[in-house]
Amino acid sequence: MIDRLDALIKKNIDKVIAIRRDIHEYPELGMEEFRTSAKVAEELEKLGIETQKNIGGTGVVGLIKGRASGKTILLRADMDALPIDELTDLEYKSKVPGKMHACGHDVHTSILLGTAMVLSELRDEIKGNIKLVFQPAEECNPTGGARYMIEDGVLENPKVDAALALHVWDLPLGQVALKSGPIMAQSDRIFITIKGKSSHGAQPHEGIDAIIAAAHVITALQTIVSRKIDPMDSAVVSIGKINGGSRYNVIADTVSMEGTVRLFDAKVATVIPDMIKEIVANVCNAFGCEHEFQYVNGYPLTINDDVLTEEVKNSFIKVLGEDNVITAQRPASGGEDFSEFAKYVPSVFYWLGIRTDINKDKCVIHNPNFVVDEKAIPIGIKTMCAAALDCLNNED
Ligand code: ZN
Repeated sequence: MIDRLDALIKKNIDKVIAIRRDIHEYPELGMEEFRTSAKVAEELEKLGIETQKNIGGTGVVGLIKGRASGKTILLRADMDALPIDELTDLEYKSKVPGKMHACGHDVHTSILLGTAMVLSELRDEIKGNIKLVFQPAEECNPTGGARYMIEDGVLENPKVDAALALHVWDLPLGQVALKSGPIMAQSDRIFITIKGKSSHGAQPHEGIDAIIAAAHVITALQTIVSRKIDPMDSAVVSIGKINGGSRYNVIADTVSMEGTVRLFDAKVATVIPDMIKEIVANVCNAFGCEHEFQYVNGYPLTINDDVLTEEVKNSFIKVLGEDNVITAQRPASGGEDFSEFAKYVPSVFYWLGIRTDINKDKCVIHNPNFVVDEKAIPIGIKTMCAAALDCLNNED
């Protein structure tokens, strides 16, 4: 089967690279992926794949039905770009000022189209279905496209049994990395307003100092990570913005603050929001201040299923060799909208290496100089195909 995959990838790769470059030239932001999704749908239809458009906004879904009935695996790619001015000197650099595929979603989309090209030729050997999901607005945390696609029924008809997605990553070309359990962080935001009472700076006893209360809130928040979380676990609670007071000799009546919370562990994620809320309320109360508190959930943790991760890892080892399949030691600190699918079905998210001599200082995503070595594209297709075929055909 590996030889057949290689042959089919070779047959289609020039077309896939051309599609990738075209999408790269015309980046579109979240929920505005009109041109990109039209192109995706056109390519799927050319392959004779049953295609649905406008799922969850600009999302596209293709369904490859195998020879025999069986399970359904969902393969996901994201399609949106970022509001960044591209600074590379690639011949196919962005033609749209202020927009760039700086997170490699053009590569993800073309890898999934390449996967569709290969798997549609292997239909007769597939037991079950392959659902190809091209999602909008991955970059729009906390209102990414995955949730809207799920609301539009992407996990049903046929019901999805497993899901798989990849992200290009600063790893050597030829390698993939993954881990079971959390692989991408949960990234939340907090908003705090502390209200005291103004008075002359020389008569502080006449007022209620919101700045003093804020200082204690900030200090006390630091004890969540240092004193309340198991030292073997980790989390981030950072206040990044603070605003308050009006004049050097006036006791401030209001302070507003904003911060970020990063969570890497399901157990910690369930307790931290309440810990923050409690500290803010109780410290403000101790100082006689009123307060407002808002905790805004971003994408949840992306959690890889233990059993499926092992299966997928074995498929990768078959096509890439053991040395090229890395077990990641810890999750990455960014959030990922694929987490939404992973909440409902056993899922695996993995990282695809893109680093070679041509881009070794330019592999960091969300960067105007970001460059992907396109030799990663056939590796992405091969790993997707191998994992999907094994997942469906190895069933009893
Ligand atoms: Zn991304």
